Amino acid sequence: MSSDKLNKIISDTETLVKNFGRFYSGKLYIDNDLPENSVNTVPAEEKPVPEKIKKTGSGIIVKDKSAVAEIDIFGNESIKREEWEFSESLDELNSKINTCLKCGLGKTRTHFVFGVGNPKADIVVIGEAPGADEDAQGEPFVGRAGQLLNKILEATGFQREEVFICNILKCRPPGNRNPAPDEVELCRPYLEKQLKLVNPKLILLLGKVASESLLKTKEPLNKLRGRIHDYKGWKVMITFHPAALLRNPNWKRPAWEDMQQFRTLYEEITGKKITPVNNN
Ligand code: SF4
Repeated sequence: MSSDKLNKIISDTETLVKNFGRFYSGKLYIDNDLPENSVNTVPAEEKPVPEKIKKTGSGIIVKDKSAVAEIDIFGNESIKREEWEFSESLDELNSKINTCLKCGLGKTRTHFVFGVGNPKADIVVIGEAPGADEDAQGEPFVGRAGQLLNKILEATGFQREEVFICNILKCRPPGNRNPAPDEVELCRPYLEKQLKLVNPKLILLLGKVASESLLKTKEPLNKLRGRIHDYKGWKVMITFHPAALLRNPNWKRPAWEDMQQFRTLYEEITGKKITPVNNN
């Protein structure tokens, strides 16, 4: 090996070791205003750290208008995260995702349907996707099925305003078709962020499609009902979708039994006593 090459290797290694120390002491950062692949090695104390830069335990996060990148010690973007992932409230999350066009439903929706209710609710109620009424009004469960859901909740002892209600998909599938698997996967992170922000004690999943999609199961609804499931640490119970109850009134009795179980579990978990309203 020539001495030039050897000197270059030694020099590069010295720079790397030096930058490693500076990086972890917060003196080296990546600047998005610089041309692509440029690493600003100006010590941080010589230039005020712009607001768009946030630090993490593992490196530096650089924010731009739409995305956040985590930069490793070598200046590589190791993880890409979107700005909405850093939302600290449901309102902030809504404002950051309500123009989403990740799947084709973004182009056909009338309204983005984020969800509604108590941002610190003990219970999150989840359906599969907005229908025509929800798409028109931008709110979940507002049509006949929504009115029935309100009655079911009230009869169980909960007010609509007390819980948080949303769907797996935030945009209406045309013709009320079932959500496609890729649509569910693209939209699922938004739901998970909603769940993290609300952090409910219990989740109530409505219907076969929502259950299959969220829990990634092919078990029939009758096998899923009456059991406590787990979704990423949250306890989940399952009952019929109110729209199915409107089509099949014979299912109202088993749905009522589901809700009594749900209330019992809620009381066990929270230690709260619920007084149901009998409005049958
Ligand atoms: S359904 Fe979800 S992923 Fe698709 S456009 Fe709407 S918000 Fe985005």
